[in-house]
Amino acid sequence: MSPFKDLTESSPNERLFKLDPLGMDAESLGRDFQHYFAHTLGRDRDCRSAYYPYKALAVSLRDRLMERWKRTRHAHDQANCKRTYYLSLEFLMGRSLSNALLNLGITDEARQALYEMGLQYEEIESAEMDAGLGNGGLGRLAACFLDSCATLQLPVKGYGLRYEYGMFRQLVENGRQVEEPDHWLRDGNPWELERPEYTQRIPFGGRTETYTDQQGRSTQRWVETHDVLAVPYDIPIPGYRNDTINTLRLWSATATDVFDLGEFNAGSYPESVAAKNDAEHITMVLYPNDASENGKELRLRQQYFLACASIKDVIREWQRLHGNDFSEFADKNCFQLNDTHPAVSVAELMRQLVDLHHLEWDQAWGITTRTMAYTNHTLLPEALERWPVRLFRTLLPRILEIIYEINARFLSQVASRWPGDMDRQRRMSLIEEGDDPQVRMAFLAIVGSFSVNGVAALHSELLKQGLFRDWYELWPDKFNNKTNGVTPRRWLAMCNPGLRELLDETVGEGWVTELGKLEQLAPKAEDSAFQERWDKIKRENKARLAQMVSSTCRIDFPVEFMFDVQVKRIHEYKRQLLNILHVIHLYNRIKHGDGQVGAPRCVLVGGKAAPGYEIAKLIIKLINNVAKVVNSDPAVTDQLRVAFIPDYRVSVMEILAPGTDLSEQISTAGKEASGTGNMKFMMNGALTIGTLDGANIEIRERVGEENFFLFGLTAEEVSHMRSHYDPDGIIAHDEALREVMELLECGHFNQFEPGIFDPIIHGIRNPADPWLTAADFDSYRRAQKQAALAYLDRERWLRMSILNTAHSGHFSSDRTIAEYRDDIWQLKPVEPTPYGTW
Ligand SMILES: *Cc1c(COP(=O)(O)O)cnc(C)c1O
Repeated sequence: MSPFKDLTESSPNERLFKLDPLGMDAESLGRDFQHYFAHTLGRDRDCRSAYYPYKALAVSLRDRLMERWKRTRHAHDQANCKRTYYLSLEFLMGRSLSNALLNLGITDEARQALYEMGLQYEEIESAEMDAGLGNGGLGRLAACFLDSCATLQLPVKGYGLRYEYGMFRQLVENGRQVEEPDHWLRDGNPWELERPEYTQRIPFGGRTETYTDQQGRSTQRWVETHDVLAVPYDIPIPGYRNDTINTLRLWSATATDVFDLGEFNAGSYPESVAAKNDAEHITMVLYPNDASENGKELRLRQQYFLACASIKDVIREWQRLHGNDFSEFADKNCFQLNDTHPAVSVAELMRQLVDLHHLEWDQAWGITTRTMAYTNHTLLPEALERWPVRLFRTLLPRILEIIYEINARFLSQVASRWPGDMDRQRRMSLIEEGDDPQVRMAFLAIVGSFSVNGVAALHSELLKQGLFRDWYELWPDKFNNKTNGVTPRRWLAMCNPGLRELLDETVGEGWVTELGKLEQLAPKAEDSAFQERWDKIKRENKARLAQMVSSTCRIDFPVEFMFDVQVKRIHEYKRQLLNILHVIHLYNRIKHGDGQVGAPRCVLVGGKAAPGYEIAKLIIKLINNVAKVVNSDPAVTDQLRVAFIPDYRVSVMEILAPGTDLSEQISTAGKEASGTGNMKFMMNGALTIGTLDGANIEIRERVGEENFFLFGLTAEEVSHMRSHYDPDGIIAHDEALREVMELLECGHFNQFEPGIFDPIIHGIRNPADPWLTAADFDSYRRAQKQAALAYLDRERWLRMSILNTAHSGHFSSDRTIAEYRDDIWQLKPVEPTPYGTW
């Protein structure tokens, strides 16, 4: 059934399908803006809020995305090409307005249109809420990847959850983190398109039973389930000036239709309405844990909800084009699992193929293991997801049966390869035995995938030697590395317009999609006229950063000072503590009249702590207390200032990365899988002080050791240090650290809050401290001194800064995605159907 009377080429309703290409000039944009502002939103000259102009501009752009979006979808259908689905519980998208303008190529036109109406672009831009559907690096990586896939014109679709509440908003009260819910959808979201026609039904609970199917086979089925509906909302993902618009599909949970209320008698009406509420809770809130698991039932519900809805959606599309023939499914489809969060997909694809589409187990397993690919993001044992078998049994009984079956078949494979090696079977089992047996999600992901990758060279090596050693022995060819990257659209062209202009002029505009072209900057690094222009841009960006710090923290950052920035999730392994110990050291030196501290500096720290991570929250309090003592001492502030920037998020990083001189990447070696903040800073000309960890190693290789401030133990030294680590001995023999500890221990930074920092002090002095803070202090202090001295030599610093940008090409997510495309996905680019031919 179609509502359209005649669907032939020449029919009058053809007009509906062939959308006008809307004008991309300032005049057309201005006309549409006025239409939406005045007629659709009903506002007038008395409007005081920047939100309505934002919304009017957003919907004007949305119109321009829509027609290109349809042509991209049409081209993907026509091409009958292989496709990839990026499955992720997190997409940290940030704002969309500036990105849409940049990628559509109409930034100047929009500014012009607004200017002519007496409006200022910056103010309108900042009325947009960040889409904070992620915790940190893992979620932001997914967002950068989508941008690169669209820019490379790859048929890749993102699948995620439409959380009603994203990452919490962080307030700082009396130096402590306070969390507030982020109701980002409250005023609506102009970038999403609801698609109720593609709603899917997701089963939970119930039980399984054996029955005999039409062919007389004994089969399992999942019955008496409590179903929830998954409604998709599509977000357009524009490629860079190429007319491609890919899709991010986010699922929202809602109760099955009201008729289910009929199942209840009149007396339990409130209970049945409450059940509706229960269903909607699934996508209510993002779990705010970065790099630590959370064994809550609701989280497992979220994971299964995403897996089931997305796979059903892909199979629906497959059947539309191929009917019930799955023989080529694995040649045409790939699921990339962003960490183990969506790993239940392995069992769910099996379930749908075997139970719903009646494939034989072996055929289904052949398809699954040629379709799934898994990316690991962490070496921290506390972040490895395991779910209690009992939880699976009540929530997903059919999935548990399938996991058991996968495990039984797998373990017999292990037994025939290593006969009698029971310890190996126990180590590799998908089920960890014990009082409360657990499903090991990483192992499920590995068995079910044809590719397993780490996210930086060191990380991929450590996986093979440690965590996944047995698996590497069994299947060496599955393992590979894909060093992370970040999109140069958002993280250079969009956030640093001053530098963009200089780069366009110096190396030509092609750098935006071929970041390797920035190598052409290297010969300019010594050129003093070029250095002058570089310096001027950096100072303007520093002024913008200082403006933000001044308005949010009430602390003035003078632009002549070195801007030393550490922003990332607050976690012990990232060692914000080491940073603040060094700040205390500088403070101590200045108080003692030691003029040897080098350049004056402003230290900025930002990041959210997981709400249940007490020691991380205490580190925030320490930073704020130290900042208060430092900033209120006039004998210190001409050399040192400290601030904690609240509510660190994507739109804040867009101001920080361009204005930073020194980027702090100081994790304990072997703990940070890759890092991507390090790459954003490097692209924008910051120098890095860092350990040999994650992608820092590759950054240093590219930029050259003379342009990087290295310190600290190596990953190997860290693992050897464990058995004989003696922090008290280190402190006793290191005068600088001893004085820092004395200040901390005498309560200098908590005069009216006795004892509050004791857990931190004990942590540093604990021989079992996994982060080895005391071990790296001296080395860190020396590297900081080198950095501060280098900063005083303006020409040297500018040369190093230029070279950092020049050699950052490798860290474009376009390079990363090209590697996924060639080594894992085997995708070919698809041009959108040209305008007017369809
Ligand atoms: C890039 C980014 C991160 C990741 O930073 P790391 O230093 O790699 O941990 C986290 N949060 C936001 C908002 C980011 O933009």
